[in-house]
Amino acid sequence: MSDYIIAIDQGTTSSRAIIFDDRGTIVSSGQKEHAQIMPRAGWVEHDALEIWRNVQEVIGVALARADLTRHGIAAIGITNQRETTVVWDRRTGRPVTNAIVWQDTRTQDIVDRLAADGGVDRFKGTVGLPLATYFSGTKVAWILENVPGARESAEAGDLLFGTTDSWIIWNLTGGPEGGVHVTDVTNASRTLFMDLRTLEWRNDILEVFGVPRAMLPEIRSSSEVYGVAEASSLLRETPIAGILGDQQAATFGQAAFSVGNTKNTYGTGCFLICNTGEEIVHSKNGLLTTVGYQLGDGPAHYALEGSIAVTGSLIQWLRDQLGIIGSAPEVEELARTVPDNGGVYIVPAFSGLYAPYWRPEARGTIVGLTRFANKGHISRAALEAVAYQTRDVLDAVNADSGVALSELRVDGGMVANDALMQFQADILGVPVVRPVVAETTALGAAYAAGLAVGFWGGLEDLTANWQEDRRWEPQLDVAERERLLRQWRKAVTKSMDWIDEDSR
Ligand code: ADP
Repeated sequence: MSDYIIAIDQGTTSSRAIIFDDRGTIVSSGQKEHAQIMPRAGWVEHDALEIWRNVQEVIGVALARADLTRHGIAAIGITNQRETTVVWDRRTGRPVTNAIVWQDTRTQDIVDRLAADGGVDRFKGTVGLPLATYFSGTKVAWILENVPGARESAEAGDLLFGTTDSWIIWNLTGGPEGGVHVTDVTNASRTLFMDLRTLEWRNDILEVFGVPRAMLPEIRSSSEVYGVAEASSLLRETPIAGILGDQQAATFGQAAFSVGNTKNTYGTGCFLICNTGEEIVHSKNGLLTTVGYQLGDGPAHYALEGSIAVTGSLIQWLRDQLGIIGSAPEVEELARTVPDNGGVYIVPAFSGLYAPYWRPEARGTIVGLTRFANKGHISRAALEAVAYQTRDVLDAVNADSGVALSELRVDGGMVANDALMQFQADILGVPVVRPVVAETTALGAAYAAGLAVGFWGGLEDLTANWQEDRRWEPQLDVAERERLLRQWRKAVTKSMDWIDEDSR
């Protein structure tokens, strides 16, 4: 048996390859950014061919840095930016247009058209998602409606659709010469096309979207051998054995396998996922229902997910737009210059409020300013806003699942911020726990692949690998916590009802 697993993490800003050993420790990695193409306001695209070139390059870098060849690698796991949509010609391997990224909002007209009959929750009972520009279904519909010749080629059976997991696997397994066209249940659960219960594409929904079923990848579990890398690749004959969308991969990498286990990833935005086990829980509180993972022919495990649009990007805003800090970590120093927020609250509703409020007409606001407020208070209010928003989403999770959270596992770039993590524990009233391996996304994909080829024996091995690095216990007095939360909720109401006919 080879000694390592390689994970390919095809993310929004970069592609990475990370090699792990059987303890889940990082042995080496390679990383390369790709261009963010923004041809118009609200449009965000990637060049799928550039992504594929970068993936091949970072695989080579990671192998070289560990002084390994394919013989040392037992399996390949893939994790990916979710929802980003690629449509390509199966005969040539060429995308018909740039990939449409998850953040892209060009499909609002399609959403409005589809929602005219039955509202945005029209398919929610089946697919777990509201109609929104975020999900890949609206993006593939846009390509078929707007790229010249695309609909005819799709109907002739020449075009394939996939998220970047499918795109990479198809290329890795031979492309036009016999490439395997698959995705996993977690990625499929973000299209708007998959029935959460049967884990199959819904013909009736595909018909409403005007998308031919022949374009779609086969839906497979998150952990099984899908194919082997082709002859000319650095990893030739190595099995590709795991696929998980990035947030689900982070949850898996956190070993959150039991009902009620919850993780929050603090990056540009925050993504909180709570494992609901084999039960499909439909949210009454503004959360998405999604597949967490499925191992081989075992049952699907489901999850509730809350997305917060602006968290790390609020810190970037302090740095780039206000210039009150020179780098992200400085926000902590500045926040520590004051003993409390001085009555200042920032509601970063830069593009409306997401979960659990869903108020597109809200806009960002700073309230409670007095002559006394300084940049320390602003920095503190920014960090606190991240924690309050997470609390709001967790309240929704608790209400939907009926399970009270006992601790929150955390990862992502912002967990380096000690002040934020302490305040998060204070405002949640439960411990916040950071693992030793913070690269939970790539680790989750490696785990899924390693399980399928017997590199790890079962979930117990993965649970044993999970190690606590640091734990923050709640310290704040309960009455003070409730007072802060009342103030925050008042601040949130001040951000609402802002955009109207006078706004530009
Ligand atoms: P993503 O995967 O979304 O690109 P990362 O997980 O790499 O994000 O986290 C980067 C984000 O975290 C940035 O938005 C940055 O502003 C923020 N960040 C990084 N370090 C800190 C810190 N010490 N304190 C506060 N925010 C931070």
